[in-house]
Amino acid sequence: MTLQTLATQTQPIDGRQRLRLRRLQLSVAVYVPCALMLATVSWLGFLPPWFPPVWVAIFTCTNLLFFTLIKANINLRFKDPSMTMAQMAVAIGAVAFILYHAGAIRGGLLILLLVIMLFGVLRLTTAELLAMGALCSAAYSAVILLLTVNRPNLVDTRVEWVQWTTLTTTMAVAAPLVGYMSTVRRRLTESLRTIKDMAQRDALTGIFNRHHMGETLDREISRCERGASKFFVLIADIDHFKQINDNHGHLVGDQVLKAVAESMRQVLRKADYLARYGGEEFVFIIAADDVREAKAAGERIRANVEQLRVPELPTHGLSISIGGTFFRRGDTQAAVLGRADAALYRAKHGGRNRVELDVAERAGTL
Ligand code: GH3
Ligand code: MG
Ligand code: MG
Repeated sequence: MTLQTLATQTQPIDGRQRLRLRRLQLSVAVYVPCALMLATVSWLGFLPPWFPPVWVAIFTCTNLLFFTLIKANINLRFKDPSMTMAQMAVAIGAVAFILYHAGAIRGGLLILLLVIMLFGVLRLTTAELLAMGALCSAAYSAVILLLTVNRPNLVDTRVEWVQWTTLTTTMAVAAPLVGYMSTVRRRLTESLRTIKDMAQRDALTGIFNRHHMGETLDREISRCERGASKFFVLIADIDHFKQINDNHGHLVGDQVLKAVAESMRQVLRKADYLARYGGEEFVFIIAADDVREAKAAGERIRANVEQLRVPELPTHGLSISIGGTFFRRGDTQAAVLGRADAALYRAKHGGRNRVELDVAERAGTL
């Protein structure tokens, strides 16, 4: 059993693979108008009639290959799992193939190489873009040389080499410009990630904060209302924490909070969720099918904190009290948290260092 939305937070690789598939779709979307353009050029007599279907067949196969590599996660073994340069190299090959057959309109079609370079803005560094620009120049010079050998009567080599010089100069200028845009884009993405992380994480412990917990709980409630798997909410509160602050100072109190959060994180299963609710209180959203499983999860968390030794408090034993309840259909966020809090209150009054469940669940009347 997994809480799907929670599990995705711990598997960023899935998100990146989805992004890679979207980028591949974007480049495939560019192939479509390109194929239409080729059909028109062929219809006007500047390309042989067999050319557009052959071109489409070849590049459908190559894009299917990229699609399969991502779908099967094989790309994750590559140095660059985005395969941006490989995809650009294939596209440069595709354009070189067009240029070889294009006859009188070859010069105009060189602009297609610039479109390919624009894709580099999604990922590449200036050095990599310069390499791609050099590949464009090399591909065009290969086309000119092949034409000179195979069709000397149909090619004006002087014009072609002038065009080659223009292309190479354009690439040399475009690569640093596109590289700059790529760098700015990368920095913005990183900044956005940092800001998002700061907005949803607690600065002291590094775990999710109350705001994020509220959003996550709302999402889980909607999922559960739509018939998804059940979940259990636990609130844990450090026992006599005020004494630690009073006797050893707030800095030691902070170290204890960090150590407790870390110990809680260690016992968490992949699909479970942990957030700092406030002060010395923590909330867990646990994927559990029955009361026994939920109680066992609470016991595991409690026992782990009991065994915890904080260097700043070598002789001081730590403990937490936990209250928990299942989400029930029709519950609001406040209702489910309120029941867990009431159970926590009973755990405190029952002597602390214990796990208490909601009365109805404990009695098995649900
Ligand atoms: P109980 O067993 O009943 O939970 O007692 P307690 O002392 O843990 O509970 P109480 O609510 O009286 O005290 C909680 C303390 O937590 C009070 C507050 O100063 C402290 N606290 C809240 N946030 C922080 C923090 O970020 N750092 C530190 N060091 N202390 C904090
Ligand atoms: Mg408290
Ligand atoms: Mg407390």
